[in-house]
Amino acid sequence: MTQSITGHTGLLCLLGSPVAHSISPAMHNEACDALGLDYAYLAFDVPEVDMPKAVEALKLFKARGWNITMPGKNIMCTLADNLSPASEITGACNTIVNEDGVLTAYTTDGIGFMKAVEECGVNIIGKNMTLLGAGGAATAILVQAALDGVKEIDVFNIRDDFFGRLEEIAEKLNERTNCTVRVHDYFDPEVLRKAIANSAILVNGTSVGMAPNTDRSIIQDTSLFRPDLFVFDVIYNPKETKLLKDAKAAGCKTSNGMYMLLYQGAASFKLWTGHDMPVDLIKEKYFSA
Ligand code: NDP
Repeated sequence: MTQSITGHTGLLCLLGSPVAHSISPAMHNEACDALGLDYAYLAFDVPEVDMPKAVEALKLFKARGWNITMPGKNIMCTLADNLSPASEITGACNTIVNEDGVLTAYTTDGIGFMKAVEECGVNIIGKNMTLLGAGGAATAILVQAALDGVKEIDVFNIRDDFFGRLEEIAEKLNERTNCTVRVHDYFDPEVLRKAIANSAILVNGTSVGMAPNTDRSIIQDTSLFRPDLFVFDVIYNPKETKLLKDAKAAGCKTSNGMYMLLYQGAASFKLWTGHDMPVDLIKEKYFSA
């Protein structure tokens, strides 16, 4: 890739801190190479306080766009000129498109989730969902699922700092979409049991079970699983969390968050380049089992 960089090469990048572990540079550069698109994608470690300076520099360099990871997802929305519906509702974004200095913010994590679920052969449109967590990944999933036509969503989170923001998001979704969103805390196990019993899909949107704490699961009571429940975990490290192992043992169809990661990247790629990411190639190189 570096051999093909010229004076014409356009800039794409990732902003956040830390970023060195990210798969995004490899994924996007590979896709650009495969399609003969003249972009280079770099990762810049930028703390939240320096995001405004980074944005000014990227505008000056006429960067085509960028991804944002923690801790920049919220502040980036305040630096953009326009917000997609999902970013407006959550106040967060993971993608910026730069059209001649006019910045539009998008959230592609939820798009990636919906595409990953579809690829598992599971249709959740018009069905009910139970969603655990209210952080960045969970709220992106919540908003996209509601916008795309999931019928009812029960969201569970600990009653803490995230909770008030979750209630605000739920209120907006109940006003603006046909989806009914209900917000609960975890303290009533019967509410959780009932929600899961009425759902086609259970989503872990929390970091519980992520490496190195792989012996943990957000669901301790495995009697909540049943064979026709699809269980999705946003975590991709480890590839099979304790939650997914337990669900699989109970006969559930399961998926980890790897293809959500792939398809959020593919959605950003399409926004910047207008081209479909060659996902089969990217899967083979970076997402194989
Ligand atoms: P955030 O820090 O924004 O959110 C973490 C969430 O987990 C919060 O809702 C938090 O609840 C909850 N949580 C943490 N510990 C517990 C606990 N012990 N009990 C109950 N809830 C808990 O992180 P992200 O949303 O960015 O990331 C969450 C996970 O999703 C990570 O594992 C990350 O790797 C993965 N991810 C996957 C993506 C993909 O494409 N597949 C994309 C982005 C993230 P509380 O309000 O109580 O803190």
